[in-house]
Parts: sequence; C-alpha cells; structure tokens
Amino acid sequence: MLTFSNVVQGLDDITSHLAALADNPDIPYERIVMGLSGLTTIWELYVSSRQLKCYSIRQPPPELQHHLKKETYDKAQAYGKDKLTFNVRQTMFNFVLGLVMIKARLLAHAWDWTASLMDTMGLEQSRVITHSLLWITVTSLVSAVPSLFWMYYYTFVIEEKHGFNKTTKRLWVTDQIKTFLLAVVIGLPFLAGFLKVIEMAGKNFVPWLMLFLVSVQLILQIIFPIFIQPLFNKFNPVPEGDVRQRVEALANKLHFPLKHLYVIDGSKRSSHSNAYFYGLPWSKQIVLYDTLLDQNTPSEVEAVLAHELGHWKLSHPTRLLLIGQGNLLWTLMLFAVFIHNKSLYSSFGFDPRLAVGSPVGGPQPILIGFMLYQLLFEPLDTFVKFFINSKTRKYEYQADEFAVKLGHANDLGAALIKLHVENLSSPHSDKLYSKYHHSHPTLPERLRAMNEYKGVDWLTKSQSSKEEELKAKEKKEL
Ligand SMILES: [Zn+2]
Repeated sequence: MLTFSNVVQGLDDITSHLAALADNPDIPYERIVMGLSGLTTIWELYVSSRQLKCYSIRQPPPELQHHLKKETYDKAQAYGKDKLTFNVRQTMFNFVLGLVMIKARLLAHAWDWTASLMDTMGLEQSRVITHSLLWITVTSLVSAVPSLFWMYYYTFVIEEKHGFNKTTKRLWVTDQIKTFLLAVVIGLPFLAGFLKVIEMAGKNFVPWLMLFLVSVQLILQIIFPIFIQPLFNKFNPVPEGDVRQRVEALANKLHFPLKHLYVIDGSKRSSHSNAYFYGLPWSKQIVLYDTLLDQNTPSEVEAVLAHELGHWKLSHPTRLLLIGQGNLLWTLMLFAVFIHNKSLYSSFGFDPRLAVGSPVGGPQPILIGFMLYQLLFEPLDTFVKFFINSKTRKYEYQADEFAVKLGHANDLGAALIKLHVENLSSPHSDKLYSKYHHSHPTLPERLRAMNEYKGVDWLTKSQSSKEEELKAKEKKEL
C-alpha cells in the first residue's frame, strides 16, 4: 500500500542511489561547470545578437506607427541599443571573471584564509557556521566590487545619457551602504538559520528546510513594506481628489480590501514609473509612483489600477508564489543528492573530508556544498526563466483583458502607450529575445490582444484622433 512513510522511504532510497552515482572522482565537476557556463554565455550572446539587429531597423512596427514620433522612435532605438550593448559586455565580463575565480580556486583559498582569520580572532575553527558566515561575507565583498562598478556605470552613464537618471552620487552611495547593512542584518542571521536547520535535521532536512524558508518568506513579505522600503522611499497618502476617489471606488467595486493608498517619491531616483499592491489577504496597500501620477490622467491611472487589481482578482501573485515554492522544493531535493559529494568538493580545490564533517572537529560546513551545487546547476535557471516568463506573460494578457472588460480599454491603451513612450521601451522585439527575457508581452502584442477582447482599434487610430475623442468624452462628462 502507498503510505506517506513509503513515499518518504522511496525518495530516500532514490536520493542515496543517485548520491552514490554522482560521487565519482572520475566526474570532472570543475570542467563541467566551466563548460556549462560557456554554453550559457554563448546562448545569452546569441539571443542578444538577434535583438541587437532590431536596433538598426529604420521604421517603427505598423502597430506603433501612429503613436511614435520620429524623434521618439530614434531615441528609443538608441537607448535600447546602449542598454543591450551594456548587457552584452557585462555578460562577457562575468563569464571571464567566473572562469578566473574557478581556475584560481578562489573559493577554497578564501576558506583557508578565513580559517586563519578565525585563529587570529581567537575563534575556534570547529565553529563551522561562524566560519561559513565569515567566508560568505569575504567572497561576497570581493565579487561586489565589479558589480558595483557596473551598477554605477549603468546609472550614471547609460541612464544619465538618456535622461532617466534622477539620483545623485550621494544618494546612490547611501543606497548601496543601506543595502549592504541590510544584507548583514537580515542576510547573515537568515543564512545561519538555514545552515542550522540542515545541521539539526540531518539526512531528511528537505521538509524542515522548506518549512523554514516558507516562514522566512512570509515574515519578509510582512516586514519588507513596513520596515525596509521606507528606508529608501517616502510614503505619503494620495491626497483627496479625483485619483483617490477613482481608486477607492474601483477597489470597492472589486471587493479589494484596500487599507491605505500611498504615493512614493520614485522620481528622486528615476523617471521610470510604476504601481503595485501588497499586504495580507484581508488588508492591502496600493502604492503609486509619483511619476505615474505626473504622466497620466486620473482615468488612465484608474485603468492601470484595474489591470493591477485584475492580477489580484485572478490570484496571479498566489500562483506565482506556488510556482516559486515548487521550484524551491525540487532544488532542495536535488541538493540532498549532492550535499555529501566528496568529488565535487575536491574538484574545486576543497579538502574532500569537508563533505562529511569538519576535519578540525565539528559538523560539516554545508554552505560550501550548497555554493558548489549552485554553480553546477545555475545553467538550469535558463529553462526556469523561460517557464516563469511564459506564465507571467499569460497573466499580463489576462489582467489586460480584465481591465478591458471593466470598460477601461481606451484608458489602458493610452496609459500603456504613454508608459512605452516615457520609458523609451524598444519598439521592435526579436521573438526569441522577448520570450526569454520579457516578463510582459510587448506593447504591439498587448494592443493587438486588447483589440480582440473588445474590438477597440488601437492600431490604426492616430494619437490625435484619440485625444479628440477623449476630450469630447470629458466634455460630455462635464
Ligand atoms: Zn501586470
């Protein structure tokens, strides 16, 4: 008979069997990781090269012909090309850096170096979790140096050149320091808990670790908007007026449990705009960027919110959360196969005895195994990315349809076009590039789909005729 304990025993047998197969000194783990990293990089560059071609097209796609002025089109093409060239350079740099780190055995050297640092500090090396935290801090700090350089360049060169950057160097540095301190205050205790749970649960750590990770996610969901986001942005209630009335009426109509409606000062960093909601099932907050309010009419803001609340009504956040948990579960189950793999440890220059316990006494430094396991399976993220993006794109269409059926077709179309123009989004998208990288369908795809939902012709009408129509409608309302 199939009982719960049978299933557990069965999984356990499979895990042990696979673990024995995978722990073979003849498997060149280091070379496999370098090879896979090369393949992933080639794939990324190939996809980008396809999109890069789109930036040489001289004319906008037919769907956007009436909505983009020549000047805006040229600007959008130049911005897209600069951003993509930046990404291509960063991808190549990261590939080379990864190879150097592996070849120079940096992870193993950092482990030995932090061991002697512990000695100097008078800490016993058998305190494996403390050693692991020290090791991860050192390796993260080293790898943060190049990524800070890239981030700085992106904000102050690329975004600056195209007029999007609103942040000052002082604010940028403060942001980085705050992010670092948060990583220390939240990240290190979290990691210590993560390692402790595996250490205490032993062989069958997967369900316990899942329980721990799900609880941490729930706690973070609650504390992030209350304690963390206010460190970076100011939240103010949306003032009484047209926008507030419309949003409240919409929330009421859909039975959305709206507790607070905020506007945040997104404009102090960037002129890109956004809107989102968060909170517990019975008490939600909606946040609008000040840039969204500046760039759109109240009825367009309402249409954007109708789309957002469509996500809520159709349980999209819950579905994505479940997909995320599924992804986490199989990642951990696979980690159970590799957790004691001596060949994996020695392939990257670590003492293989570390795969079962600390040679200086004390339990196994599990973090090393987890990092190596991640290096090995990182390329699988490519497939996960395809899958998740296909889901979110489907959800975007559904939320658009939801807003259209509520009667916001005209305003949503107008708002999406404005968003596209203001953000200088790419007018042309390569199909494969878009499927791989975009969580949202492209504007032409969305406009075409909206046409089908309600026969609103956003493709052939010119911007001016729509504006006249809107003005006529507003007059009628007055
Ligand atoms: Zn959406």
